[in-house]
Amino acid sequence: MKTITRRQFAGGMSAIVAAPALTGRASAQGRFDFTIPQGVTQGGSTTITRVPTAQPRVAMTFDDGPHHSLTPQLLDMLRARNIRATFYLIGHRVAMYPELTRRIAAEGHEIGNHTWTHPRLTGLGDTSLLRELDRTSTLINEVVGRPPITMRPPYGLLSPRQRGLIYAERRLPTVLWSVDPEDWRRPGSSVVASRIVSRSHSGAVILAHDIIGATVRAMPATLDGLGARGYDFVTVSELMGWPRWGSRAMGFTLASRAPG
Ligand SMILES: [Zn+2]
Repeated sequence: MKTITRRQFAGGMSAIVAAPALTGRASAQGRFDFTIPQGVTQGGSTTITRVPTAQPRVAMTFDDGPHHSLTPQLLDMLRARNIRATFYLIGHRVAMYPELTRRIAAEGHEIGNHTWTHPRLTGLGDTSLLRELDRTSTLINEVVGRPPITMRPPYGLLSPRQRGLIYAERRLPTVLWSVDPEDWRRPGSSVVASRIVSRSHSGAVILAHDIIGATVRAMPATLDGLGARGYDFVTVSELMGWPRWGSRAMGFTLASRAPG
């Protein structure tokens, strides 16, 4: 039990989610060691932008979904190529599309926490900041049966103090990115694809948005282009050397009632 930290979320729902601790060795029960690999963090001890790796592997990440029509198209593209990605979902959109959220998880992808309302977190007090994360983690846990184990701040905005707070209080590392095609500027599909393919490197965390049609339309060329360059696709957890999110080795345990 040493590798499990119980945290009661401050959200309105009275669920407890046991988040995996990020320190300590695998326990006798075989639970995994979630320590952040050395040399990974930048911009603070709990921030990940890329992961040094000898293998040619990258993590595709998609923010701001689920989107009712674009996310299913993307999932089809990923499934056709047997590629797993990581989706940083917005909590209130999970509430709109629970079935789609379940499909993301069921097809082997990882789900991360991208807040409930997508605010600029640097403008929030600590209570509001944690509530944004807690509402989202609680709902994702209710919908797919396990909570996110990393978070990504909207616009990449999060102060070093806030990152430390979130890690200390919720054991969520802050995951940013090392490759940004700036797809939100709407440069068009071919530019998005060429930027991602040309800028990628081993251990890259690649940022994209599956609420932008041109980005999703860029994915066949992007995924095939990266594959042609020899890259394998992994989730953020796998890039960190952790087991795949949702696997039994993750050792999630859930409690349905808050004590007291
Ligand atoms: Zn976002």
